[in-house]
Amino acid sequence: MKQWECSVCGYIHEGDEPPQNCPVCQADRDKFFEITAQEDSSAEETASASVPPSDVPDVPLEPLSMGEKLAELLVEKHLHAISVHSPNGIIPVAVIFLVLNVVLKFSGLENAIYYNMIAVLIGMPPVIATGYITWQKKYGGAKTTLFKIKIAASSAATVILFGLVIWKTMQPEILSTPSIDRWLFLMWSLLLLATVGVAGHLGGQLVFAKKSAQE
Ligand SMILES: [Zn+2]
Repeated sequence: MKQWECSVCGYIHEGDEPPQNCPVCQADRDKFFEITAQEDSSAEETASASVPPSDVPDVPLEPLSMGEKLAELLVEKHLHAISVHSPNGIIPVAVIFLVLNVVLKFSGLENAIYYNMIAVLIGMPPVIATGYITWQKKYGGAKTTLFKIKIAASSAATVILFGLVIWKTMQPEILSTPSIDRWLFLMWSLLLLATVGVAGHLGGQLVFAKKSAQE
């Protein structure tokens, strides 16, 4: 049985041929390389190598700039996975509060909803920055369907969240006044939850790609 690794996300496929598309990140089949074959050929090369190692010119490693070091550390320490806990954890709570407030008329939750949304908004720049750097560094900025949807969903989430905070700031009474506006506010918040859910779900697929493949 041959093994093929997706060069984008690291998913490992077992079979005679690579899959048409990566089931995790949707990369094309030409992004797959055969793991076993590559190991074999490198072993043969080493065995038949007649060139002494000293003849191989040493390529001096270019010192990494401060920014590159920081970016590597950030990817290594999974700072994106950590920072996304703020939108992924708080937005569902804010939306539950909002449903309780609008549908079941639980007053007193308005400020909690508002401050939760502000807290997430403040936490968004690190989420976006670490997400972008992780995408570039770890996945080579691959533009597969998965990444396109993930970026679109995250961008939509950021815009909607920003809009909701501005809306509640301009119209502080929106949730306490019975009107169509509060239902529109709820509808946009549900959309926000959906976009955050999509981005988070795809992120989870990427993170667990290797683990599920090796099971
Ligand atoms: Zn992949």
